[in-house]
Amino acid sequence: MKVAVVGIGVAGAYLMNRLSDMHDVSVVGFERMRQDQHDAVCAWATCENVMSGLAKNCGLNFQDYVLHDGKYMRVDLGSDSVDLKLKGMVSYDKLKLIQDMIKGTEIRFGRAPRKDELEPDFDLIVDSTGLHRNYLPRLQNELWIPCVQYKVRYKPGKEPFDDFYLKAFPSMTGYFWYFPLGNGYAHIGAGDFAKGHNRFVDEFLHKHDCEVIKKVGRPVRISPPANCEPFTDGRKSVGVGESIGTVFALLGEGIIPSTWCADLFVQNMHDLGAYRNAVIRKFEIYSTVFKFVQMKIAGKFSMIKHAGDMLKIYNHMKSEEDRYGMAVKWTDMLKVSKI
Ligand SMILES: Cc1cc2nc3c(=O)[nH]c(=O)nc-3n(C[C@H](O)[C@H](O)[C@H](O)COP(=O)(O)OP(=O)(O)OC[C@H]3O[C@@H](n4cnc5c(N)ncnc54)[C@H](O)[C@@H]3O)c2cc1C
Repeated sequence: MKVAVVGIGVAGAYLMNRLSDMHDVSVVGFERMRQDQHDAVCAWATCENVMSGLAKNCGLNFQDYVLHDGKYMRVDLGSDSVDLKLKGMVSYDKLKLIQDMIKGTEIRFGRAPRKDELEPDFDLIVDSTGLHRNYLPRLQNELWIPCVQYKVRYKPGKEPFDDFYLKAFPSMTGYFWYFPLGNGYAHIGAGDFAKGHNRFVDEFLHKHDCEVIKKVGRPVRISPPANCEPFTDGRKSVGVGESIGTVFALLGEGIIPSTWCADLFVQNMHDLGAYRNAVIRKFEIYSTVFKFVQMKIAGKFSMIKHAGDMLKIYNHMKSEEDRYGMAVKWTDMLKVSKI
C-alpha cells in the first residue's frame, strides 16, 4: 500500500516512523515548511508517563528530550489561585523528538501538494496538517482559539517563575502560560477566544525583562472529534490528529491525543470504518469537556444544570491522574469552574 502523510507535526512524524517499519507499506511524507524552517509551534508541555511509551514505540527514549520536570503548577484565577501538584508534567524538545522520529524516512520538505497531484500515486493520503485540514471537507461551526507565543530567555535569577504557571482569563475564554524550558529559557504565550491574548502577553513581556528569541502564532482547534466528522473525503484522504479535533479543550492539550490518534490509525489503516469508530470511542469524553468550555465561554454555564458534566470530567481526570501528569482535586475543579 502506498501512503502519503501530509503535514509533519507530532501525528505525521509518529506515522512516518511507524509506517516506515511495515513491510507491506511504502510511505512518503510532505511538509510545507522547508527543512531548515521546520518548527513545532506549541508550548512543548506534555506528560512523560504517556510520552515515554509512545517514544519507545519509535525506538526512542523520551527522557533524552525532557527540558524541565514540573513539580507544581500555579493556576492564577484572579481573585483566587490553585497549586496543582504535578506528577509527570514536563516540557520537552518537541522539535528534536519529531526530527528523530522521522530520521531515515522519505520526506519532501517545502511541499504542500494538491490532493489531485497525490491521488494518482497513492492509495491513501493522510491529512495530518493540524488546523488546516486541507484535504478534508470544510467544517461548519468549528471552534478554535487564537494563540500567540514567544520563546524567551531570562538572565540568571531573573525568571518570573521557577515552575509551570497559568493565568486563566475570565469565563475561561483562554489562558496565559509560562512554561520553563530549562537554563533560563521559557515559552510564554496565551490563547483567548475573547482576543485579549496579545495584550496580556505584551504586558507580561514589558513587566519581566527578557530576550525574545522567537515569536509564533497560530490558532488551536478545540472542537472534539465528534464535531470534526467526516474524517475522510470519501476518496483517498483520511484525517489524523488535530485535523480531526484531537485536542483536550480544557487545557488546549493536543500532543498526546494527536499521537494516540496516529497510533489508532496505524492499528486500523486497512479498515477506515474501524478507525473512525476507534477515534470516536477513545475521545468520547472530549465532547463533554468541549461542551463545558463552550458553556463557560458563552456565559451559559450553570452549576445546577451542568453539575453532571462537571462530575464526569472530574471523575475522568481523577482516574487518569498519571495520564494528565497532575493531582486532580474536586475543590480545585470547583474554583476553576467559578471564574
Ligand atoms: C501556541 C500553541 C501552544 C500549544 N501548546 C501545547 C502544549 O504545550 N501541549 C500540548 O499537548 N498541546 C499544545 N498545543 C496543541 C498541539 O500543539 C497540537 O494540538 C498538536 O501539535 C497537533 O498535532 P498535529 O500533528 O495533528 O498537527 P500540527 O502539530 O499542527 O502539525 C501540522 C503540520 O502540518 C504542516 N502543514 C500544514 N498544512 C500543510 C500542507 N498543506 N501541506 C504540507 N504540510 C502542511 C504544518 O507545517 C505542520 O508541520 C498548542 C497549540 C498552540 C497553537
